[in-house]
Amino acid sequence: MARPDFPRTASEFQDWFSTDEACYRYLIESRWPDGFVCPRCQHRRAYDLLSRPVMKCRSCGYQVSVTAGTVLHRTRLPLLQWFLAAYLMTTYTPGISAVQLQRQLGLKRYETAWTMLQKLRRAMVRPERDRIVGMVEVDETYIGGLERGRHGGRQRDSSKEIVVGAVEVRGRGSGRIRLGVVEELSGDCLTRFVEEVVATGSVVLTDGWKGYLPLEKKGYDHRPVTQGDAKNAAKFLPRVHRVFANLKTWLSGTHHGVGSKHLPHYLNEYVYRFNRRRTPMAAFQTLLGLAGQREPTTYHMLYDGESNG
Ligand SMILES: [Zn+2]
Repeated sequence: MARPDFPRTASEFQDWFSTDEACYRYLIESRWPDGFVCPRCQHRRAYDLLSRPVMKCRSCGYQVSVTAGTVLHRTRLPLLQWFLAAYLMTTYTPGISAVQLQRQLGLKRYETAWTMLQKLRRAMVRPERDRIVGMVEVDETYIGGLERGRHGGRQRDSSKEIVVGAVEVRGRGSGRIRLGVVEELSGDCLTRFVEEVVATGSVVLTDGWKGYLPLEKKGYDHRPVTQGDAKNAAKFLPRVHRVFANLKTWLSGTHHGVGSKHLPHYLNEYVYRFNRRRTPMAAFQTLLGLAGQREPTTYHMLYDGESNG
């Protein structure tokens, strides 16, 4: 299935999507790039129901939603606002806050902007189910409150969350990343995270914390790169530490901190945007659910000419 083209620049975006009607046409083109086909009778012609995004088969009368399976389904907001929100969220490098989105879209209520971003964030989960592979740095950090060394042996402060990160080593740079929240720094929690996000057989670089030791038995080539002194971790695991630093800057700078209830969704957004950082405009299309089931070129485009980051 051919992927419909997507705008490459901000001015192209404005040209293409100046009205709800234009967004609606784009949805139809994305869903049926080779023309409409009725799922019930295979007839190829349909009426537009202009009142809502539905196509009605001219032969059997079957009605097909144009937005089914996308974040736009059953929304009461104009399509144009969703297109703009998805565009800003994927292409604006530091990410966009609900306050900024409210202003950009001219929305009366902050809650509307916040809910849109949450819905888009949830739509960012699906394509991230495959596991990263090769040589991978894994480490963990605390989000919220002050950092505390895990060797201190104190009870964990419930206002802080433990975030584990995994980053593919690509030359001197980074490939794809995965982030997750874990309950505790135990072997169970840490190995479960790695098993979920890193392909078996991969080389896993860690700081040698005992929670990672079971990895060897789980089919990974586990290589502790520092022993004992956790201060060395940033030096020997530079990619995952850079991801943690940027993540914290983003959470505190753009979003002024995020509560633990919503943290997993923000991590999803961070991962989604990071992994598509070379192709933000394609990410816009994927986010709206308009790029078909597969991700045709994103990862290849991502790795082309990868040398840092
Ligand atoms: Zn039909």
